[in-house]
Amino acid sequence: MNQTDYDVVIIGGGPAGMTAGLYASRAELKTLLVEKMILGGQVMTTTTIENRPGYPGGVDGPELMMKFQEHCVEFGLETTTGSVDKIEDQGKTKRVVVDGKEIICSVVIIATGVIPKKMGLPGEQELVGRGVSYCATCDGAFFRNLPIAVIGGGDTAGEEALFLRRFASKLTMVHRRDKLRATKIVASRILADEKIEMAWDSVVDSLVSDQTGLTGMVLRNLKTDELTEVEVAGLFVAVGVVPTTDFVADILDLDENGYIIAGENTHTNVPGIYAAGDCRTNLLMQISTAVGDGAVAALMAERHIDELQQEA
Ligand code: NAP
Repeated sequence: MNQTDYDVVIIGGGPAGMTAGLYASRAELKTLLVEKMILGGQVMTTTTIENRPGYPGGVDGPELMMKFQEHCVEFGLETTTGSVDKIEDQGKTKRVVVDGKEIICSVVIIATGVIPKKMGLPGEQELVGRGVSYCATCDGAFFRNLPIAVIGGGDTAGEEALFLRRFASKLTMVHRRDKLRATKIVASRILADEKIEMAWDSVVDSLVSDQTGLTGMVLRNLKTDELTEVEVAGLFVAVGVVPTTDFVADILDLDENGYIIAGENTHTNVPGIYAAGDCRTNLLMQISTAVGDGAVAALMAERHIDELQQEA
């Protein structure tokens, strides 16, 4: 086998990546985890997580991720901060370019997850940090006693609305249909909450701002086409997610939404490159499923390296 810097390079430090790191290093594979921002992934922006088994009563997202972090380095996992520019398949080895620096390894596990989708409205980007946000736990407290809107009808929007209600003078949840997509328990909490006002069948048509930042939104009712201006200081966008997979589009097969095509065994179209967690085609986006994927991907890495050694 050719000389490698690492047996395994994991890209992405959310629950899938950290679990893969724990399993791979415990299997005595020399493993490096590369994370662009901070370890923890999307969970770092979540408040109480109620559906992670083992935590009756729920657990705070960042607190859980700190435990993951402590645990995943226990068996010698190395971690580094950096952005992966490119992965090249060289057959028995892979070349990973991190901020211009080359790393040669036998296996790559991609666990880059997803990022929030933008609404795509004029001014949306310019108003980020001045009223528009994609993270309630990060920015909610800036809008104490001010009118807040949450856009979307899924679990993220539901959980953000239930978190933000404490700060808002008034909270409007804007959903393009007349039924929430969020799980029943979240949806019924939203509907029972007197402080949360639903704007059904509606989308944000445009944003209103002045030199201080966001001041309002114009809603369009999709059934009547009626436009209504609503005063709002903080607008939290939760209209879904997009996978972070651009950097592998030249090497891996992606589906029409950009997810890496990989089944439960985490295999991609390239032997020795595995995809784990939310960035792969997946039925469910949960910490529990990401953890399962990370464990499977590490096992696949171990088997692939065994095969390479037998061939050598
Ligand atoms: P999601 O489930 O895809 O929901 C996105 C919401 O935004 C939907 O209600 C959708 O409307 C709406 N939407 C999409 N594009 C829009 C647009 N351009 N304008 C207006 N509205 C738009 O996304 P998510 O809530 O971010 O959740 C992502 C995944 O993570 C899901 O699988 C979710 O279950 C999971 N998650 C789980 C938890 C948990 O278990 N605690 C917490 C958060 C997220 P339609 O309903 O009409 O499609």
